[in-house]
Amino acid sequence: MRIVMIGAGYVGLVSGVCFADFGHDVICVDNVAEKIEALRRGDIPIFEPGLHELVKSNSDAGRLSFTTDLQKAVGWADVVFIAVGTPSRRGDGHADVSYVYEAARQIARAASGYTVVVTKSTVPVGTCDEVERIIRETNPDADISVVSNPEFLREGAAIGDFKRPDRIVVGTEEPRAIAVMTEVYRPLHLNQGPLFFCERRTSELIKYAANAFLAMKITFINEIADLCERLGADVQKVARGIGYDKRIGDKFLHAGPGYGGSCFPKDTLALVKTASDADSPMRLIETTVAINDNRKRAMARKVIAACGGSVRHKKIAVLGLTFKPNTDDLRDAPALTIIQALQDHGAEIAAYDPEGMAGARALLSDVEFGEDPYAIAAGAEALVLVTEWDEFRALDFRRLHATMKVPNLVDLRNVYPPQEVRRHGFHYVGIGKGGDR
Ligand code: NAD
Repeated sequence: MRIVMIGAGYVGLVSGVCFADFGHDVICVDNVAEKIEALRRGDIPIFEPGLHELVKSNSDAGRLSFTTDLQKAVGWADVVFIAVGTPSRRGDGHADVSYVYEAARQIARAASGYTVVVTKSTVPVGTCDEVERIIRETNPDADISVVSNPEFLREGAAIGDFKRPDRIVVGTEEPRAIAVMTEVYRPLHLNQGPLFFCERRTSELIKYAANAFLAMKITFINEIADLCERLGADVQKVARGIGYDKRIGDKFLHAGPGYGGSCFPKDTLALVKTASDADSPMRLIETTVAINDNRKRAMARKVIAACGGSVRHKKIAVLGLTFKPNTDDLRDAPALTIIQALQDHGAEIAAYDPEGMAGARALLSDVEFGEDPYAIAAGAEALVLVTEWDEFRALDFRRLHATMKVPNLVDLRNVYPPQEVRRHGFHYVGIGKGGDR
């Protein structure tokens, strides 16, 4: 199959590279020329484990190339995936689908022969209908099918998720498109990849329903964590105790500083807007959004309490800036809100992240960036663990104790058993560790 991926970001690049690795011929298109030039040189613009090697091997094999020339690429393709961003629209929180529609207009002008146009971007219900309308209006002669195929990969584990998905959802009822999409995913299908065909609108909604459910699950355990702190219970044990129940499952039950990232915040908000417009409000998700928004600043208050009620003129060291480990993505990362709230209260912030510092420099002001946890901990009155990178899982507490002004660990990911940290003379605060005052 000749596949074109429009948008070489986290989703487009990973999907395109994995399709090439399955043996398809793939061209990744992006309108940011520097990104394409970097990819041609073999430089990967994002951090995603394993991606560098896969780009190199498939480029060397001649199955993968990069271009800014959308017209030419689309004219060549059997299947064109749209994987551009759909951020929250400023002001009202609806998904901004303007990049998707712009891509549709460009595809319409360039498509030649039967072409399947697939929206891989997360888009509100009805977007594929509009994409189809735009293409037919722009080029009435175009022989196309428009298909929905939402992506469920997780940053940080994207290649494994793409190659071994729990399911592949494909929204189309057109036999020609079903045949093409089956062929596109055939290498996975042989490997028992469950291909699930449904109507286009259903497919579009599946993505939002999945993300909203997961966001709700995280928010649920976060509220249980708060209750644990009041009642003297331990949220990690509550999570284990309920997670053994297969109806509940043990995933997404880690209490923390609130969900962030490039998907959950914008997708929950977009679903709330879609539901309200459809006169079918989703109160559960409205509440999830509100609880999560408040939680990030509440985490700053936790740090302030751990510092005796004030952080003014105190150095606070923040470990981890990205919204989760193994990515450089800072979009809606809890660390950004927590740092801002601490600065609002007069704290002096030092921070370290293995992959996120270049991006963070552009987003944060008055932050001292250090080269490792020990460098930023020097003279600090609290060390706040916000993102659970592997390299933060075995900190040398003796060394930290010697360098910090006040040995104080605020562990917002419950990485450490409190007793272990206290043994080193530290004051420890975790999440939902009520039995442990
Ligand atoms: P991203 O911002 O990393 O990448 C989007 C890319 O599209 C950018 O490189 C941009 O330059 C390019 N682009 C925009 N308009 C273009 C055009 N007309 N022609 C060519 N290139 C164009 O975004 P992302 O994180 O990859 O997300 C893409 C979509 O996938 C979103 O809808 C998102 O919700 C969804 N999604 C993301 C994830 C994730 O983990 N990031 C997971 C599942 C689904």
